[in-house]
Parts: sequence; structure tokens; C-alpha cells
Amino acid sequence: MHHDHRRLGRELGLFGTDPLMGAGLPYWLPDGAVVRHTLEEYIREVERGAGYRHVYSPVLGKRELYEISGHWDHYSDDMFPPMELGAEQVVLRPSLCPHHALIYRSRAHSYRELPLRMAELGGMYRSELSGVLGGLTRVRAIQLNDAHVFCTLDQAVDEARAALKLIGRAYADLGIRAVRHRLSLPGEGGKYVADPELWARATALLREALDASGVLYEAVEGEAAFYGPKVDVQIADPAGREATLSTVQIDFHQPERFDLHYIGPDGAKHRPVMVHRSVIGSVERAVAHLVERHGGAFPVWLAPVQLLILPVAEAQTGPAEKLLRGARRMGLRAELAGPEHGSLGARVRAARLVPYQAVIGEREAEAAGDLVAVRLRDGRRPGVVPGAELVDRIAARAAARGLALWDGDAA
Ligand SMILES: [Zn+2]
Repeated sequence: MHHDHRRLGRELGLFGTDPLMGAGLPYWLPDGAVVRHTLEEYIREVERGAGYRHVYSPVLGKRELYEISGHWDHYSDDMFPPMELGAEQVVLRPSLCPHHALIYRSRAHSYRELPLRMAELGGMYRSELSGVLGGLTRVRAIQLNDAHVFCTLDQAVDEARAALKLIGRAYADLGIRAVRHRLSLPGEGGKYVADPELWARATALLREALDASGVLYEAVEGEAAFYGPKVDVQIADPAGREATLSTVQIDFHQPERFDLHYIGPDGAKHRPVMVHRSVIGSVERAVAHLVERHGGAFPVWLAPVQLLILPVAEAQTGPAEKLLRGARRMGLRAELAGPEHGSLGARVRAARLVPYQAVIGEREAEAAGDLVAVRLRDGRRPGVVPGAELVDRIAARAAARGLALWDGDAA
């Protein structure tokens, strides 16, 4: 059966839309917000570990900024119309690159600071036509996992390779799979900036990075960014429809347009290269894919609720609340569903996607050691353990970010 993220998103209370907010402008409900927040924190952590520093920049910019970047000439069909503000025009940004170029330019840089890796999970906007909008996969407001590495020409291939490696690691942690890597080259038409020599150099470097990474790829014309070629990491939905999630680009164009430089060992000014890369693409598309890939049964570390505590009867409310407090103290996302929510069977069924359920009946409550009977969401019942031990096990599973639920499961 195919999982449609729009149906599951509704059923599981992850996100929604309202015609008054507008098409392509979804809101996130608490359980969806937990998944999104956890994913965003994960990506920031992985990036910090890979030497990135995070910045914030505004979602609006003056029209001139996009004239310099080239978006105005080559990308305006996808941009919202500018807003008049006195004598100025401001635009909802169609990408984060120009802001990051300005942040780089705001200070002098020595070659010793390179590669300088600047990351941001930031908002950007695309004026998609309302006919193609739906769920989280085509939206007008996008939260992009973006970064720009400012580096020397000699460092560009290694940085692109490192980005491909980071993408591979994130996919393993998230339990998702790339269906193919695409080297996206320019096609016919005036959509692309004209500088054949720069295109050829950037393409050669990307091929070198791909070859060194050992990933198979195919070159496709007409899918490049307007300013340069890119590697697109393709995913597929359950119906086999492909979409781009992650990207890596080597760019000579923006550093020229923004007149970026660094001071080399010779004391002279040199032009850096910009490596644009996104590990999980837009948060909206990433969550949509995770919902579909896992059918709503998220890996433990991403699950909106990780542990559901089920006292069989009113008499076990005390030990159940004690376990809830202990689990939350350990940082778990735990909830309690007492007998007022229906029969035990009904409560277990309602929580079918929660990875762990701890049932506390008369027997468990009366035994020494605060025992719970464990149920896993796949129907297994691994036995009766002390509640504190279960909490420790779940915390360890969440920290390891594996896909396994219990000891002995394949990771
Ligand atoms: Zn960029």
C-alpha cells in the first residue's frame, strides 16, 4: 500500500493547510513540529561536527541584491513580486546565497580561515502556481537546510566530496535512500548565465568530486541552477515519482558578482569559490519523504511520542505518573493514556505508531521494582522489565539514532 504524506499528515496530526492562510503555506501541528524540530537540531549537530558555523539572515532583501546575484534576470518567474516600501522595493528571497555572500563580504578574510563553512536553516519563497501545490512537497514558503563553503579553488573538490559524504550519513540516520545522483547541466535557452569557461570548470570539478566519492551518476541537461552545474541527489516517493532532496554545487559566478575575495599567502587578493550544498534540502520535503518512507512509524529518535505509558486501571495511576516523570526527566517524549481513554486494547491500537508502550497492570505495580510490561509497535512483547530500565534503553536507542527497536534487531 502506498503511503501518501498528505493523508498520513492529516491522520497523525502533523500538519495542515487552511485556504485562508493560502495554498502552499502549510502550518505544523505539535506532533509535526516535534519531528521538524528534531530534524533541524539533528542537521545542525551534524553540521557543527563537520566544521560549519550557523548564521541567521532575513527572508527579505532589496531588489538590487537579486539584480546583482542574477536572480532578477534569470529566476524572476519563480519569485514573488516585489513590495514597494517608500522609494525601495523589497523581495521575499528566492534563495539564501546572496545573503551569505554579503555576510562573507562584511569582513576581510585570510586564506587561513578557508574553507569557511556558513550554514543556515532559513526561510525562502517560491511563487509556485496554486494548481501544483499539495501537502509539504510543493510549497511557497520553504525552510531550507542550506550552507555555503567559501574556499580556495584547490579546496573545492574536497569540500564537495565532504558534502556528498555528509548527505550519505544523514540518509543512513534517517533511514532514507537516494535513487540516483544526477549531474545537472545547463540546457538550451537563456535561463543560464553565459560564461562557457566557468561552466566547464565547475562541471569538471563536480565530476572529479563524484568520481572520487565513488557514486554512480548520470549527467542530465537542463536541470542546472542558472549560475552553475549541480549534483542533485534524487529520492522517489512510494509511487516512484522522483524529486531532488539534496544538492551540491560549485559556483564561480556568485563570487564574481559580489566581488568576494580573501587575502592569500602572497598578501594579494584572490577570488574564493562558493560550494553551495544542502544535506536534506527543504525541511518540508524531507519530512514529507520521511512520513511516506516510514508510513508514519518514525525512527525512535524522530518519533513525536517515543513512549506511551498505559496503566491498566485507575489503581495503577500512581506508578504510571512516576514513570512519566522519570521518562521526561531523561529527555524522552513520553505520554500517559489512562483508562479514561478506553479499554487497554483500544489504547494500544490508537498508539500503533508509538515505538514503545509500557503497560502497568496490577501484577507489575505490586511487584518490587516498578515493573512494566513492554509492547513494541510491531506487536512484539519483549517481556517485563523495571520502568527505569526501559527508559534507559529507549534513551540509548534515541541517542544512537538507529532504526532498531530492541536488542538483537538489525540496526
Ligand atoms: Zn546557495
